[in-house]
Amino acid sequence: MLHLLDQSAETLQSWFTAHDLPGYRAAQVQRWLFEKRARSFDQMTDLPLELRNQLAEEFRIWSAGVAAHQEADDGTEKLLLELADGQRIECVLLRDDREHCNMCISSQVGCGMGCVFCATGLDGVVRNLTTGEIVEQMLQLQRLLDPAERLSHVVVMGMGEPLANLDHVLPALALATARGGLGISVRRVTISTVGLPAGIRRLAEMNCQYHLAISLHAADDALRTQLVPANRNVGIAAIMAAADEYFEKTGRRVTFEYVVLGGTNDRPADAARLVALLHGRPALVNLIPYNPVEGLPYHAPSAASVSRFADILTDGGLTVAVRHRKGDRIDAACGQLRR
Ligand code: SAH
Ligand code: SF4
Repeated sequence: MLHLLDQSAETLQSWFTAHDLPGYRAAQVQRWLFEKRARSFDQMTDLPLELRNQLAEEFRIWSAGVAAHQEADDGTEKLLLELADGQRIECVLLRDDREHCNMCISSQVGCGMGCVFCATGLDGVVRNLTTGEIVEQMLQLQRLLDPAERLSHVVVMGMGEPLANLDHVLPALALATARGGLGISVRRVTISTVGLPAGIRRLAEMNCQYHLAISLHAADDALRTQLVPANRNVGIAAIMAAADEYFEKTGRRVTFEYVVLGGTNDRPADAARLVALLHGRPALVNLIPYNPVEGLPYHAPSAASVSRFADILTDGGLTVAVRHRKGDRIDAACGQLRR
């Protein structure tokens, strides 16, 4: 059986054409899934019964099951999904208010980049997610909303390295932002990457208008390679060149994420190097106080060290935000997602 959520609007359309069915039916099915939050073909009541049966014979809407569902008192909810092959991934819903619900979705089972502080990277990468599996996370999270709540933002910041799976991530984001899809504004989509220059260039070339966040974590190659082994064959200079190109082509300011690890990369000299690197660039720095991962030897920074670090950046003329911690009590905060 085909996974319905893995079909692009065009392939679904051609299935209808091949079956001598009117093309508008494809759009109708999509509206049921994305807008009216239907769970089954049975619920698509304005489709002829015969068509509903025919669809149910050829397509399954869902490929994954919910293996666990956790809820924190700040409104954050986390789903552990079990995929058709038994692999597991997590995705998170974060609420600001009714009009502003954000979802954090995964792009791979595990991650091959090996960042030494990250729970996702601990056991390497198993495989890329399909487009349908990425879309399914969004619809499963949408299901958790009450009818008055609206998905407004999506961040590809869960498990995995999205730029290592762009062929599946981009079609999923196209559905997230399509009018007949989830209708999320392209400017409210964030792709967070470890910094793969070829992928950044590809996004720049397509002038996609998504918000790009690059996980830097250190402003010199020696420290960065220690924290982000994938840096060894890349280097900060190549990442900065690609980031500059992204800004030139899209006009969108790039965010640099910096996980602050107590006693490791939070010294004043680290901040000064970051100022030197980013000075004069239209950049935003997002400081993420480390969320401890069991079994790893890294520590959360003290509040004093984070604010000292932030002050040095601000004094150096950079724009800085400290990421508000959400969902850490259910291990749904940055870097805590696992299989
Ligand atoms: N692979 C992509 C996206 C997923 S990780 C990337 O690295 O950007 C999303 C963000 O969470 C990254 O900035 C990552 O460095 C950060 N992160 C990973 N582990 C963390 C932890 N334990 N505490 C805080 N942030 C963490
Ligand atoms: Fe992968 Fe991102 Fe974790 Fe690094 S921080 S291991 S790139 S998920």
